[in-house]
Amino acid sequence: MNVIGLGLESSCDETAASVVKNGSEILSNIIFSQVSLHREYSGVVPEIASRAHLEVINGLIDTALAKAGVSFNDLNYIAATNRPGLVGSLLVGLQTAKAISFALDIPLIAVNHLEAHLYAAFLEGRQELRFPYIGLLASGGNTAVYEVKGIGDMECIGKTIDDAVGEAFDKVAKYLGLEYPGGPVIEKLALDAVKKEMLFPKILTAGGDTRFSYSGIKTAVVNYINANPSADKAEIVYAFQERALELLVRRVFAFARKRGIKRIVAAGGVAANGRLRALLSAAAAGEEIIAPPPALCADNGAMISGLAFHYYMRKEFDDLSVDVRSRVLERR
Ligand code: AMP
Ligand code: MG
Repeated sequence: MNVIGLGLESSCDETAASVVKNGSEILSNIIFSQVSLHREYSGVVPEIASRAHLEVINGLIDTALAKAGVSFNDLNYIAATNRPGLVGSLLVGLQTAKAISFALDIPLIAVNHLEAHLYAAFLEGRQELRFPYIGLLASGGNTAVYEVKGIGDMECIGKTIDDAVGEAFDKVAKYLGLEYPGGPVIEKLALDAVKKEMLFPKILTAGGDTRFSYSGIKTAVVNYINANPSADKAEIVYAFQERALELLVRRVFAFARKRGIKRIVAAGGVAANGRLRALLSAAAAGEEIIAPPPALCADNGAMISGLAFHYYMRKEFDDLSVDVRSRVLERR
């Protein structure tokens, strides 16, 4: 028997709805990006985000069902991100899911956005879902590494003490007058660097340190720009990107080797970065590197619906009292 689920995602500035079959096959994956609404502010404005989610979510659901060739009555479950994220934004997706669950009398599954990002690597049967693995989550709001031991069972083994890595990409881009979001723009511009000098110091080099930090390098970049106003932008972003990514790579392999785990999954918006993927592959010595295709690194509903399938099979449902949470506890 096939299990069909609808997944909703509205934790930040993408509104998304996706129909997934049996936790893996994507029948539709509709994403409305709000980037153009937030561009003039160089970052996400929470009030604008939640209003925009509200305006488009019903239409997105209709489109996702139509594209998948299914109707509401074909759905076995409804899933939505309920943590972590912007509270007003999360509410739109979760309340919509509650209404659908109530009206159709189908199970509601509230999903951890971070666990779903990592699960994206296993959609479309690209990889067999096996545990444990070391999961690197690098996005605009989060930078953390987990030992993922099973569905709903992930231990955080290192995280940022200040900014997320994607946030640092966005802020460095802003200081240089580049477009928002900064990640893809910086990746492209860095390819034009002629002089490839390490203009900024390595981050958190003490042995045994498990933390990440991105506010220091951000300040170093700003100070450098102020002291060298005519410096080449491509060379600045090259140097920034190398240091920012180097820390991710260094930490991931240190954790993997310490724990004797040979599978590494990299996910989240920053995992779309080709230089990060190349650095991870180059540093591997027997470790398997797994990452979703770049399109599934960004926020999407398929990862929500796909992960929720496993909770559905385990009959781990949520009731209508489930709420949103801006932060996430490490265990479900
Ligand atoms: P997310 O928070 O998962 O929605 O991802 C958005 C974040 O990923 C933003 O901070 C982007 O700047 C960043 N990002 C997207 N693409 C890239 C890329 N190619 N390189 C680095 N960062 C990226
Ligand atoms: Mg995300």
